[in-house]
Amino acid sequence: MYSEVKRFLSVVAAGLLVSPAYGASCLEVTITGVQGGPPVFAGQAGSGTLVRYGTEENNCSDLLLQFDTGRGTTQQLSKLGIPAGKVSAVFLTHMHSDHVEGLADLAQLRWHFNSAGPKLPVVCAENTKSPAGHEMSCTAFTSHIGDALINSGEIAQRLAENPKRLAGGPADLLDTVTFPKSIAASEVWSSGEVSVSAVFSRHVAGHASYRVDTPAGSVVIGGDAGNDKPAPPRDSSTSAQVEALAQGADVIVHSTIHPVMGPDGTTGFPPPIYFRQSTATDLGAMARRSEAKHLMLTHLIPPLGAPRQGPYKLPKPLTEEDYSGAAKAGGFEGNVVVGKDLATLRLVAK
Ligand SMILES: [Zn+2]
Repeated sequence: MYSEVKRFLSVVAAGLLVSPAYGASCLEVTITGVQGGPPVFAGQAGSGTLVRYGTEENNCSDLLLQFDTGRGTTQQLSKLGIPAGKVSAVFLTHMHSDHVEGLADLAQLRWHFNSAGPKLPVVCAENTKSPAGHEMSCTAFTSHIGDALINSGEIAQRLAENPKRLAGGPADLLDTVTFPKSIAASEVWSSGEVSVSAVFSRHVAGHASYRVDTPAGSVVIGGDAGNDKPAPPRDSSTSAQVEALAQGADVIVHSTIHPVMGPDGTTGFPPPIYFRQSTATDLGAMARRSEAKHLMLTHLIPPLGAPRQGPYKLPKPLTEEDYSGAAKAGGFEGNVVVGKDLATLRLVAK
């Protein structure tokens, strides 16, 4: 039904807002952090995407949904005028530090200034065992989010200053909501006209991808998903589950690796890590098959202009055209946004 809603694109690049009809409902997608993987480069924030929904009158601010909370998420939100206490819900794709480490900061800020609530829903996959035997656990992560600060004595010290704060520290303000393993999309969260569904997809154990449906449009957050088959030969590096989830979606936001990092190149990047990501070319092909209108590439490996990805030296730094050209080479004729911190796309229901 959402694909039938007539809408128009009001903005493609950050900061270039074109004022649409007043009162219309709107969906805005902002890459809060474009950094791919654990390295730090040029001040880029860690992985995250903000999806907001509301009306033009309130600047799409009825709901503020944060997908992944990498390094610097609260600082990025502050640039958008969004304090930690205003985030409606957090959704985590997987338990890798570059996607979740900013939650500690977000939760602490919330505890410090908003202990009276509301609690922050954190939606993520149930505990999942890997084939190697270790368990990835979002609930363990969130329930221990403030442990370092409890152990340092800070939480006790601040409680002594203000006993109205929750006694258990920042973890007490998180309301963790897990969903079971499924490769078919099911709703994991909703509020009013907005529904979020999820599927499990492959990257590391417990990896999930999300779709947000609103009257103003729909967006898929693929996360770091790759194909279920962990290495070639295979049809594509992209995930069949994400592709099914993305059918008819307006926007696909997806982590991206450039083929230059592959085993045919000279970087020495570990092939198993390369193979668990989706390439820009295959994402272009997936976006075409899904009939998406916009493909936002994020979590760029390597970053634009970087001489290396972590310790792996590149033959030459990559440009925006290297990524957009790769996505177009996959056959996608829609709008490609090569991610930068705070790149924004807004859809408005007409
Ligand atoms: Zn990642």
